[in-house]
Amino acid sequence: MAGILFIISAPSGSGKSTLVSELRKQVSGVDFAVSWTTRTPRGSEQNGREYNFTTREEFLRMIEDGVFLEYAEVFGSYYGTARQSLEEARSAGHDLLLDIDVQGAAQVRAKLAESVGIFVMPPNPKVLRTRLRNRSRAEGIVNDEEVYRRLNAASKEIENYREYGYILVNDLLDRAVAQLEAIVLAERFYRNGESIAYRSRRVLEVAAACLQINSQERLKPVLEAFGILTSTGQQQLNFEEDSEEEDSEIDKKDSNDD
Ligand code: ADP
Ligand code: 5GP
Repeated sequence: MAGILFIISAPSGSGKSTLVSELRKQVSGVDFAVSWTTRTPRGSEQNGREYNFTTREEFLRMIEDGVFLEYAEVFGSYYGTARQSLEEARSAGHDLLLDIDVQGAAQVRAKLAESVGIFVMPPNPKVLRTRLRNRSRAEGIVNDEEVYRRLNAASKEIENYREYGYILVNDLLDRAVAQLEAIVLAERFYRNGESIAYRSRRVLEVAAACLQINSQERLKPVLEAFGILTSTGQQQLNFEEDSEEEDSEIDKKDSNDD
């Protein structure tokens, strides 16, 4: 069986790693490509588990040696996927999941047109800010500058959503995990004729609803909140005006969603 290549992209803090880790608990036969990066480890991250951490010099040498299927500079650090990840998944007959940014996804699509793109969106900028802050707190380092850097990049990244076949809005975690699982099972069904048993109709319906071409109504409020559908297309997102009280409401709601 030829494996399927899934590419998952999202603005940082949308919950992509959380979704991927839940998916891997529930669906077997999906390998995860551990990327190489020059950024420093965060919180409990371990070398070889979340990322292969390396130096800039070593990364540049790997580029020269043609090690990478794709690579990009994101938030001032290099990130790349080794070709070897694809080769290993192929020879094991497994699907492969790449968690990469929009630049890397474009490079992979150009090389492997049959890949399946999934774009994850946070429901709105305030929820995204809360998630970034909470993650930062949980890691024991509240780096507001880094949080704002990632928030400010979010709208630009979301503008690329049209390049992805499927869209997930990660509002309620359980629902988003079920949608991601449905997409993987539906693609296996369509491409490999793999059985999806008694749940098959429901799974296919859930996956079909996540197709980008079927998502315009669902996406409208999210895109508007990120200033993407405005007449100027350049709406400035202003987080400074929110009071702490309002912020803690969102904290509460967001953690209830968890
Ligand atoms: P990403 O990989 O996209 O950068 P993470 O998976 O690290 O994002 O998630 C960012 C933060 O948001 C984490 O603290 C995570 O626990 C939290 N989170 C993820 N999904 C949800 C959700 N649906 N509801 C509430 N919190 C979430
Ligand atoms: P983080 O530092 O938050 O883990 O990741 C920052 C961004 O880098 C995210 O958008 C993530 O998807 C992206 N990223 C992680 N690994 C890779 C990779 O191998 N290639 C590319 N192009 N982007 C990556």
